[in-house]
Amino acid sequence: MVLKQISRVEDMPLQLEEVPKPDLQSNEILVKITACGICRTEIDEIEGRRVPKLPIILGHEIVGKIESLGPWAKKFNLGDRVGIAWIYHVCGQCTFCLSGQENLCDQFKATGCDVNGGYAEYIKVKEDFVYPIPEKFDDSHAAPLLCAGAIGYRALKLTGLKDGETIGLFGFGASAHQVFQLIRHLYPKSKIFVFTRRKGDAPSVLAKEMGADWVGETGEEPPEKFNRAIDTTPVGRPVIEALKHLSKGGRLVINVIRKEELIPQIIYEQHLWYEKEVKSVANITRKDVQEFLKIAAEVPIIPEIREFKLEEANKALLMLKRGEYRGAGVLKIG
Ligand SMILES: [Zn+2]
Ligand SMILES: [Zn+2]
Repeated sequence: MVLKQISRVEDMPLQLEEVPKPDLQSNEILVKITACGICRTEIDEIEGRRVPKLPIILGHEIVGKIESLGPWAKKFNLGDRVGIAWIYHVCGQCTFCLSGQENLCDQFKATGCDVNGGYAEYIKVKEDFVYPIPEKFDDSHAAPLLCAGAIGYRALKLTGLKDGETIGLFGFGASAHQVFQLIRHLYPKSKIFVFTRRKGDAPSVLAKEMGADWVGETGEEPPEKFNRAIDTTPVGRPVIEALKHLSKGGRLVINVIRKEELIPQIIYEQHLWYEKEVKSVANITRKDVQEFLKIAAEVPIIPEIREFKLEEANKALLMLKRGEYRGAGVLKIG
């Protein structure tokens, strides 16, 4: 499914096309894709808020089997089941790469954005950027772990949440509903408040079913202040709402690549004073993915998924944009 120009998601811009199988060099491997998760970042790419290299095959939550190996590839065997995430390439030599922050490398190349991704039957990737998939998960349930889950894990680490502290989740989609399960496992004494777009929408129903301590609409007054918050929404208002309800010394982490609109004005006394902090998440490291896959298998974290066929990618993205399904969308391929 190829994107040729920046468009509106409503225009159904991805086109089903035959493209040649990639040739392998050095330590690259060829993966025959069986499942690819659908991420909100794809909407930002299509609509030009994070401009991809065009034409592009989107998708960065990829699961499949190794079909062939480049001449120097030696870490995996033919037939191994592996995953590929957003991180496709980093330089390995800069100060960021050398200090455990390869997610901030200037040479960072993103799967399905700077290079072709997983809305396809095949992808090639260097063997250093793939991950064995724990047996616990089938392909479709493993796919959303690779971005939504892994970046959610990074966001949760960045909040600095301690057991017993309360956390607010703004947005309850593919990422937040996995973070929810992670919090219950790692911080069993913590309360979780969930804010969604509208009362009674699909994400709010899911949050209630999963046992959130409180579920409301963004703008509603929560029962008490919270110490930490994660915002996974594409809009501006949750930032202000989260900061308003943060307790003293609290921290908000914004886990989204682009906002579709401006953040409303921050008023220092109301939103930031008392040592409140706000921080963004950018990309992920390979360590984030490896650690998260391990924890996800232990818990286990089982994402709620909605499967689509590869050729239904346009429809799936439009439904995601409109908030019409709950949990994580996955393209089932082949
Ligand atoms: Zn993603
Ligand atoms: Zn680097």
